[in-house]
Amino acid sequence: MKIPETTTCLECGKIILGRTDKKFCNLACKNKYNNQRLKEKKERRLNIIRKLSRNYEILESLLEEEQSFYYIEELIKLGFDIRYITEVRHLGSRNQIFLCFDIAYSLSGSRISKIRRDSLTRF
Ligand SMILES: [Zn+2]
Repeated sequence: MKIPETTTCLECGKIILGRTDKKFCNLACKNKYNNQRLKEKKERRLNIIRKLSRNYEILESLLEEEQSFYYIEELIKLGFDIRYITEVRHLGSRNQIFLCFDIAYSLSGSRISKIRRDSLTRF
C-alpha cells in the first residue's frame, strides 16, 4: 500500500490532507500568512526609508559646517549608515560620488568630503 504524500500548513504547521500542492490548511491560515508577509515587506521598506532619512538629516546638518571632511566613524556614531544611498555616479574610473537624495558627497578611505547639494537633482 502506498503511503499518501503529505504537506504541512505554512502558517500553523498542521498536516494538510488532500492535494499535495496545497500550502495552507484553510483560508484563515492563508490570510494570516499573507498578511504577515505583507507586514514584513512594509516594515523592511520603512526601515530603509528611516535609514535614508537619518543619513539625509546628518548630511544636511553638515552642509552648514565649514569642515572640509568628516571621518565616517564619527558620522556612524551619529547614526549615519554608509550602506544607504540613493545613487552612485561614476565620474571616470576612480572617481565616484554618492548621493542621498539631492545631497552629494565623495568618499575616500575613511572620510567623507565635498558634501554639497547636487545641481542635477535640484528642483
Ligand atoms: Zn494552518
